[in-house]
Amino acid sequence: MIPYGRQDIDAQDIEAVVQVLKSDFLTQGPKVPEFESKLASYTGAKFAVAMNSATSALHAACLALGVGPESLVWTSPITFVASSNAALYCGAKVDFVDIDSKTYNMCPQKLEEKLILAKKQGRLPKVVIPVHLAGQSCDMERIHQLGKQYGFSIIEDASHAVGGKYKNRSIGNCDYSDITILSFHPVKIITTAEGGAALTNDPKLFKALNLFRSHGITRDQNDMVHESHGPWYYEQIELGYNYRMTDIHAALGSAQMNRLDDFIEKRHAVADFYFKSNLKNLPVVLPYQDSDTKSAYHLFILKLKLDDLKLGHKEIFIELRNAGIGVNLHYIPVYLQPYYSRLGFKPGYCPEAESYYKSAISIPMYSALNQQSKELVVEKFTSILK
Ligand SMILES: *Cc1c(COP(=O)(O)O)cnc(C)c1O
Repeated sequence: MIPYGRQDIDAQDIEAVVQVLKSDFLTQGPKVPEFESKLASYTGAKFAVAMNSATSALHAACLALGVGPESLVWTSPITFVASSNAALYCGAKVDFVDIDSKTYNMCPQKLEEKLILAKKQGRLPKVVIPVHLAGQSCDMERIHQLGKQYGFSIIEDASHAVGGKYKNRSIGNCDYSDITILSFHPVKIITTAEGGAALTNDPKLFKALNLFRSHGITRDQNDMVHESHGPWYYEQIELGYNYRMTDIHAALGSAQMNRLDDFIEKRHAVADFYFKSNLKNLPVVLPYQDSDTKSAYHLFILKLKLDDLKLGHKEIFIELRNAGIGVNLHYIPVYLQPYYSRLGFKPGYCPEAESYYKSAISIPMYSALNQQSKELVVEKFTSILK
């Protein structure tokens, strides 16, 4: 089976990990700060805080922005559940803004309409979490303007998008957000096996992210309540977690950063192949590319034109899997999950997201996808959709 995504590990990546295993520090050594400084300099963000997953980083980001039981947090329904679960961990209420029919990202017009209504009802969100689906940036300029107007903070969930650009600048620079989140799960653009990061330009948020990553403990006298008792002394000033990344994982991440531009180039080559292939002659919608963006191409999502097809969505999906094409579906609208139904969400809530879900299909997309596999994907698609 050709998977829809997979990691790309070379000899230098392996050597970097082995070196850590032979060194003095498996965790809390020099590799985490090294990885963080590479993330910051690549993206242009002032600060990077590496954590053990993007989910942890999303949780810490919500906490750093003061999300609590009184807060409302809005995100996109077409995302991995972690984007909204992070707000639930804080006791907040979540809500969903429907997607744009072309980009499948959070729709800025629908966001504005929802904000106008929420203002009248006194239910404005504290934080909005736009998600850069497939690696293509949301309309951040517009979302940022709305943030200023309606007083919410912004966490960009860029789990799909490291290496991508928006208005010719690197995603992750936080030009239009308070915090940006990256994921390093093996199917994402670069990997640390499990891992994530939070990026910010704000020194206060940076400090808060560090605290929540590590038990709420500080060793900085300026942040302490009492005078230091001695060189061993530390204080716990918040209720934090152990969300630290190990040096083993960070060494892999750091080695992968050296290959990031190459990964993006290869993913673009795969996308170019698909765009030029016979897929364009089939009853499918190819991914729309906004001219303000350069996608990181974590995913390559097609929408089936089901009215023009004999087989249904599910049948096509199963046939492709049977033919060795590891297609997938990103994502089931989050609020349709049983846990979210229990919170009161009903089918029909975000019609565009539900219509997307009925026809979307992610086809194999990763840097190491070879020519033969790409050709096979197109060939099988062509024969099954005939
Ligand atoms: C993968 C992903 C996450 C969670 O990432 P982890 O590193 O696995 O915790 C969050 N949001 C989105 C959009 C993702 O794709």
